[in-house]
Amino acid sequence: MLKIENLSAEITVADGAKPILKGLSLEVNAGEIHAIMGPNGAGKSTLAYVLGGRPGYEVTGGSVTFNGQDLLEMEPHERAAAGMFLGFQYPVEIPGVSNVQFLREALNSQRKARGEEPLSGGDFLKLAREKAALLKLDMEMLKRHVNVGFSGGEKKRNEMVQMGILDPAFAILDETDSGLDIDALRIVGDGINAIMRDPAKGVLLITHYQRLLDYVQPDFVHILSDGAIVKTGSADLAKQLEAEGYDEVMAA
Ligand code: ADP
Ligand code: MG
Ligand code: MG
Repeated sequence: MLKIENLSAEITVADGAKPILKGLSLEVNAGEIHAIMGPNGAGKSTLAYVLGGRPGYEVTGGSVTFNGQDLLEMEPHERAAAGMFLGFQYPVEIPGVSNVQFLREALNSQRKARGEEPLSGGDFLKLAREKAALLKLDMEMLKRHVNVGFSGGEKKRNEMVQMGILDPAFAILDETDSGLDIDALRIVGDGINAIMRDPAKGVLLITHYQRLLDYVQPDFVHILSDGAIVKTGSADLAKQLEAEGYDEVMAA
């Protein structure tokens, strides 16, 4: 589904450009969940931003294909319409726009790009209710302005409701577990499994800690260090990292 080959990318900083990704290769097939773990500053978020097409991140080498299409040639909205969802460590707040308005607009613009009919208000609310129930998020939260005044856990659950409604083929989740208490962690983990554990779907789960992986079992775990994948293993690799720390596991 997602094939990243020898990807290099840099970010624009005040005094020039700073190389961050340095020849990263990774392949995710349909039906697989891959975890990417790594020390702070390794380039995990940069990878998510580059895959999402965020301005300010320049690809300097390598290639990325998504279902055979050149992802790097696609605009961010085209990537979304093609079924790619990005969840971020710090979800944005949008004062003045309700969650329901925002999500219906996002869903219908993706449907339009795929040549599908828009969902009516009634059908959309039915879908939103179903997904909110799955994530145990009160419908009242969906009527409020996007993320405004939400706690960290509510923002993450809200993001999972967004994911459920958009029903993407591929999700890239960057530190979705950061700042979650144990109950919220379980709900988010169950949500990822319910929405994305599917033979036709793929997931890149970026996380600094092992704990989310107690709820979402990855098929592969990769260690990202200094802009490249330095080690790949099974779910056991995450447990080993938790027990021994990055330095020891990477040195082995
Ligand atoms: P991770 O998510 O693995 O912690 P990031 O991708 O956020 O790592 O960052 C990789 C490197 O790029 C770090 O050294 C970080 O300090 C640097 N970096 C990221 N964004 C910026 C920025 N806007 N300006 C300067 N340096 C940045
Ligand atoms: Mg970080
Ligand atoms: Mg990060």
